Amino acid sequence: VLGTTGAFLYVTQIQNSPPDQLPSDPKKPTLVVLGSGWGATSFLKQLDTEEFNVVVISPRNYFLFTPLLPSVTVGTLEPRSIIQPTRYITRHKKRKVDVYEAEAQEVDPVKKTVTFQDLSDVRGSAGSVTLNYDYLVYAVGCENQTFGIKGVNEHACFLKELSDADKVRTKLMDCIETAAFKDQPQDEIDRLMHMVVVGGGPTGVEYAGELHDFLIDDLKKWYPEVADRLRITLIEALPNVLPAFSKQLIQYTESTFAENKIDVLTRTMVKDVKENAVVVQDANKQMREIPYGLLVWATGNTSRQITRDLMTKLATTQTQRRGLMVDDYLSMLGADGVYAVGDCTATSYAPTAQVASQQGMYLAGIFQKLGQKAKYERQLSELRAQNASPEEIEATVKKLNRSAKLTPFHYSHQGSLAYIGSEKAIADLPLFNGNVASGGGAAMLFWRSAYISTLYSVRNRTLVLADWLKVKIFGR
Ligand code: NAD
Repeated sequence: VLGTTGAFLYVTQIQNSPPDQLPSDPKKPTLVVLGSGWGATSFLKQLDTEEFNVVVISPRNYFLFTPLLPSVTVGTLEPRSIIQPTRYITRHKKRKVDVYEAEAQEVDPVKKTVTFQDLSDVRGSAGSVTLNYDYLVYAVGCENQTFGIKGVNEHACFLKELSDADKVRTKLMDCIETAAFKDQPQDEIDRLMHMVVVGGGPTGVEYAGELHDFLIDDLKKWYPEVADRLRITLIEALPNVLPAFSKQLIQYTESTFAENKIDVLTRTMVKDVKENAVVVQDANKQMREIPYGLLVWATGNTSRQITRDLMTKLATTQTQRRGLMVDDYLSMLGADGVYAVGDCTATSYAPTAQVASQQGMYLAGIFQKLGQKAKYERQLSELRAQNASPEEIEATVKKLNRSAKLTPFHYSHQGSLAYIGSEKAIADLPLFNGNVASGGGAAMLFWRSAYISTLYSVRNRTLVLADWLKVKIFGR
């Protein structure tokens, strides 16, 4: 035990002491990375920085493990358990990496520049800064899709950022406290205790599941006077929830929700959002109002403004509205030196964390080759200047040619998982040359272990495990 503890402390010590990093080198190309999400972080983790001066620009200086975000909204997990500071990764790199917490506002693909601004600048005096890049890794993700529906931005909560989870948590507790307040009218209690989730994709389904657990495990004990009045409604425009999952798992989810008294309104589309009610249109084209206390909006994603601007600048080559078009090597069409990964791209893959992280890893391999190529080119010109032997030159030429050979990106689907509440999860797994669909407690164990192993650091794994244990013992 002492040995293990000692080794653990030693490793922690090494991790905490930044190594001596090489300083930036004006002779090396500048590689700017935009973003700190799945694509950018998996890229940074794998990247060999020796041959580049790397600059990371992102409005948040940490990576957020988004699949576990719904768990933060009800206090199953603490916010810090699912984030990893970007500097945790960059401080171990061979060459120093500059990290700026700032929002990129414009990319000029002709001049090869990025303009960015520190939005949280406390003095408010920092203007925007423009930086030249040789290579740009564009991994800015997406923003919430509202379809231009009135009132969404004003009245609904999203589930994308850590601050969203905090907002949902505060709003949820405010609704319950107000419902439990002295002498509230009955219909007001019903409204406040009605939690509406719009969008039956994985985000909406997982949130509804977490909310149900919170009700059963905790609310009933804390607020016995109003807990029974809590209702959860999931609204989905399509004929069923989770269209990307197999039929069997869709049915399993819908029947679990029915058992858990989560109302699922399918073929129902939200048309308008008012302060205390959503206006929906049902399958018979009938319009009606549904009063709510908390409204969570999870209807998917759309391109960010900076991405739309970039597409406009390259309108002749960038012809997809969905996102940036890239070739098989993730190089952006029509933009020299720009690579794009993740949700901001329009590829044949679904915009998932899994795709983005595999793309990031793949791209780090491309940059490894680019770095090697630059190194061998340098060596070759030195050898020629020194009149080296033809054998030596030929050996270096061979290495150079090898470094120029690239294999196209190939996505390997590891399956889809979603938590649906009451200790049940669903898993669509591509095994044995076919798809295996599984739902229930075993899938839940699989869900937990898959997420624990996907978390990026020992610190995050420890914190998440400790949070789960905490909930089991003390509740939320
Ligand atoms: P989504 O796009 O998967 O689902 C949004 C849903 O909202 C759609 O089914 C759509 O029909 C519905 N919708 C849109 N407008 C509506 C309206 N006005 N009224 C009612 N319903 C409406 O969105 P998501 O769940 O945020 O997921 C985004 C991406 O992230 C997807 O690719 C998803 O697979 C991925 N994701 C995966 C997981 C997981 O695997 N566990 C978790 C979260 C997200």
